[in-house]
Amino acid sequence: MSGKSFNAFEMAQAQFDHVADILDLDAATRALLRVPLREYQFSIPVRMDDGHVEVFRGFRVQHNDSRGPCKGGIRFHPQETINTVRALATWMTWKCAVVDIPLGGGKGGVICDPHNLSAREQEQICRGWVRQLARNVGPLADVPAPDVMTSGQHMLWMLDEFEAIHGKKYPGFITGKPLGLGGSLGRTEATGYGVIYTVREALKQLHIRPEDTTASVQGFGNVSQYAIELYTQMGGKVICVSSWDQTDQTSYSFKKVAGVNLKELLDITDRFGGINKAKARDLGYEVLPGDDWLVQEVDILIPAALENQITGENAGKISGKVKIIAEGANGPTTPEADEIIKAKNIFVIPDFLANAGGVTCSYFEQVQCNMNYFWEKDEVLGKLDVKMTSAFLAVSALAAKRKLYMRDAAYVIAIDRVARACRERGWV
Ligand code: NAD
Repeated sequence: MSGKSFNAFEMAQAQFDHVADILDLDAATRALLRVPLREYQFSIPVRMDDGHVEVFRGFRVQHNDSRGPCKGGIRFHPQETINTVRALATWMTWKCAVVDIPLGGGKGGVICDPHNLSAREQEQICRGWVRQLARNVGPLADVPAPDVMTSGQHMLWMLDEFEAIHGKKYPGFITGKPLGLGGSLGRTEATGYGVIYTVREALKQLHIRPEDTTASVQGFGNVSQYAIELYTQMGGKVICVSSWDQTDQTSYSFKKVAGVNLKELLDITDRFGGINKAKARDLGYEVLPGDDWLVQEVDILIPAALENQITGENAGKISGKVKIIAEGANGPTTPEADEIIKAKNIFVIPDFLANAGGVTCSYFEQVQCNMNYFWEKDEVLGKLDVKMTSAFLAVSALAAKRKLYMRDAAYVIAIDRVARACRERGWV
């Protein structure tokens, strides 16, 4: 579904321009917030296992740090582009602001495909990324985290390189670290659970009981798996899940009307979140085309894979039964699709609110690292629920009061906070 001409950054800017008009922002603030403050693009030479040297392209974009150090993941993806990283960095600024944590927005990436790289090669990419940026990132400047196709292991290699360069321990440099090595309990669950905390609140407002609902989810990685876990615990039933098939280079949807079984699906899923097609058939799943997750007759849709998935072309196919779209992924819905979704009167929980659980828990990880005192899992998840719920309630209250689309209401709150920080610092 990823059209060649899709430019995520243009989409992020279009969303910003729209809200800048609602807020009547002055020209200088618009000029400042429309583009990132800083961008780094660099090469990472790596000697591969067969002896030849391959040069990978790396990125880090720091969109805005008026409210605190930049914060954002590092993605390893063969189709990574600077514009995707710019968009994601911009969305991180709004995400930290909407949940009101004292951090700004950043994002990074490397054009590579970990499917085809050994662990040693991936370690060299991680260390090379940090060597290029060691003076431009850090606990008080810019704090990376795992994202698509990167894990706690990658973060630990990066931390190790950073500490080797600076000659001291800096556990707050990076988040998403493994447990026992500066990681926080609850981080693995945080984004998926956070999505469902907001779904729970949306259902309350719509006067629908979770146990009376069904859902369809795109993606079966970290966000999706934990969203499914908590939603199922609340009594909801997921009837369709889609994932990317590395062998066939396409996606498939896996459907079970009685409800997918998370554990049995996990047993047939690789570490990249790809579900084994043949084994799924054996377990009684219907294997459908990749886009079919979107057209299911369910109450809740959760896109939790990639950007640019619900578009002007396919949004019209969304069932009339759908009441909520909770965006687990970043930027899954295009502005053209938004217009169709508005007309269908679907309640949207926008990406930078719905999936803010990850960064909120990363912030808790930093706080714990700085104190060198680690909380129990219940304490982390309890604090996460409080933050996510209050952010959701603030956005939905503003949406109701000013009759705004939920995405616009979330943007109004976030952009207003960042614009105010820039003004009060005397930047504009
Ligand atoms: P992941 O790599 O763990 O999982 C991605 C999943 O999407 C995999 O199951 C993969 O098979 C599937 N997928 C990829 N392309 C697909 C396609 N075309 N159709 C269907 N499925 C496809 O990634 P993740 O950490 O779960 O992140 C998913 C999304 O959520 C991304 O947009 C990411 O930026 C966003 N996000 C993640 C976090 C986090 O904490 N992990 C936080 C905020 C936002």
